[in-house]
Amino acid sequence: MTAFWAVFAGVFGLAIGSFLNVVIYRVPVGLSIVRPPSACPRCGHEIRNRHNVPVLGWLVLRGRCYDCKAPISARYPAVEAVTGLVFAGVTFRLVHDDRSWLVPAYLYLVALCVVAVLIAVDGRPLPTSIVGTSYAAVYALLLVDAFFEHAWWGLGRATVATAARPSPHHACSKAASSNSKA
Ligand SMILES: [Zn+2]
Repeated sequence: MTAFWAVFAGVFGLAIGSFLNVVIYRVPVGLSIVRPPSACPRCGHEIRNRHNVPVLGWLVLRGRCYDCKAPISARYPAVEAVTGLVFAGVTFRLVHDDRSWLVPAYLYLVALCVVAVLIAVDGRPLPTSIVGTSYAAVYALLLVDAFFEHAWWGLGRATVATAARPSPHHACSKAASSNSKA
């Protein structure tokens, strides 16, 4: 059963990785993540659904636009593959340790870290919309953890720390440390 959930999380991670590519590319420059659909930056042709399949689409196209043959960065399938693998690994470990209620929190943090690292690699500041959303999400996930583990002290600590020092990295590390029970 553990392996089943790991594979399920891996496939889910591939799809999330595809979404993260859109977030990394569009949010820092103020574009909508919903519209327009993904298109080739050179010729403007929409990416066809069958080529939008994570990793496989890029392989089928051999890293080139179907219409104008402009190269498509290998970073896109790499982000999808890494997100899928880490999702599978984290889920396997948590389900194996019988702490499956932590899976949503950890997967959120993995996704957030992928986005933060690549936006930093692109030399752009982390957009405030991502920071704000993450505060809300991390806090909600800490509530879930506190409920299951009766770890209200960790939640209280995170609340005080977040209020005292508003930095998303800080909130991230608090969430991770209160979850890991190190
Ligand atoms: Zn093109």
